[in-house]
Amino acid sequence: MASQNAGSGAQVKRSIPARVQCSGSLEMKESSMYSGIGIYTAKDIEENELIFSIKNPVLAVITNVEDGYKTACDNCFAALFKELRTVTNPQLAFKACSACKIAHYCSKQCQKAAWKHHHKHECQTYATSDIGDIIYVAPIRLLVRMLCLYTSNTIPKDLWNEFLSLPSEKKYRIEESRNAIKEIAQFMSGVTNLPQSLVVETFSTVIHNQRDIYLPTLRLHSKTDPLATGTMGFMGDCIDPFASLIKHSCDGNTWLVFEGTELRCRAMRRIQAGTELTMSYIRPSTPSFIERREKLRQTWNIDCKCSLCQYPSPEPLGDLKKQLTRYNTHPKEGITFTNQQPTLDEIQKDIEQMKAAGFGAATLPMLALHRLALWAHLS
Ligand SMILES: [Zn+2]
Ligand SMILES: [Zn+2]
Ligand SMILES: [Zn+2]
Repeated sequence: MASQNAGSGAQVKRSIPARVQCSGSLEMKESSMYSGIGIYTAKDIEENELIFSIKNPVLAVITNVEDGYKTACDNCFAALFKELRTVTNPQLAFKACSACKIAHYCSKQCQKAAWKHHHKHECQTYATSDIGDIIYVAPIRLLVRMLCLYTSNTIPKDLWNEFLSLPSEKKYRIEESRNAIKEIAQFMSGVTNLPQSLVVETFSTVIHNQRDIYLPTLRLHSKTDPLATGTMGFMGDCIDPFASLIKHSCDGNTWLVFEGTELRCRAMRRIQAGTELTMSYIRPSTPSFIERREKLRQTWNIDCKCSLCQYPSPEPLGDLKKQLTRYNTHPKEGITFTNQQPTLDEIQKDIEQMKAAGFGAATLPMLALHRLALWAHLS
């Protein structure tokens, strides 16, 4: 299979990097599904078990919180999603960096820590950015952060090489968005003094390896247990070269979740010793089967052969599908929101329409809708 090729840069190390916390039960070897290195478990793993964690992944950037970046902390990832939040503090409030007005912080301590770690290198780029709104696009934020960390020697050389050795689609969208990428490369070369070719290479590696950041969220005004986690909030994007080696399957056996800024990989179900770890690079239920296949092909050049792709289950189409796109369903965790949470009435209407169209509990997002309705009812 010609997908997910190993990069042409430095060789991938085949021992587990020291920054990865695991119980010594993971192995790196040729992927069974695609060319390049994959990650395998050498022992049986239980459902939900923590497989590995990484304290501070190379890149983790807030890119998708409502009201831009104003309701999430650039340092600790405390965030508000309408009635949901990621921390217990009900008085959560955010202050903007006075220079760039883009990064926001939940406390002075967080602002100091972020300044020291990354923001002093990127603040000026944001503040003087003349590439306009494009600075808000996820891969651009990741690119700016990555290049700033690299030029300030904040990323150790071996980690940078590990990053550049990741699979990347060198021609990714370069044909179709040649002008935009040229503009970005010119702009970033001006800021960092790096050759434009390196900027473009970094960009295509970023695009290919960025993964979603999810955080468990709490309800703000719950009459029930205020710590009950109801759902996951989609916050932004991260890259860690080790986690990026987990290959795609729409029916993946692992998923990534953040605890504050710590990346954790957990088992979606029981995994037998000797199995290759997989995860879905996109949410398998939305967009539709055809759109999912198209996105996989376009972004990662993947022709997925997983069971969900070979035996796709029936799914809502047309107007009903459009109506349900406000729910991002995760097969394990249920529903995530990037927009306002629907009311109980709206959820019940959607359930009725799913039923009327002949979809049972096994169809996504039916089960998640029921959980959400119960949850909305209790609070
Ligand atoms: Zn904070
Ligand atoms: Zn700033
Ligand atoms: Zn698939």
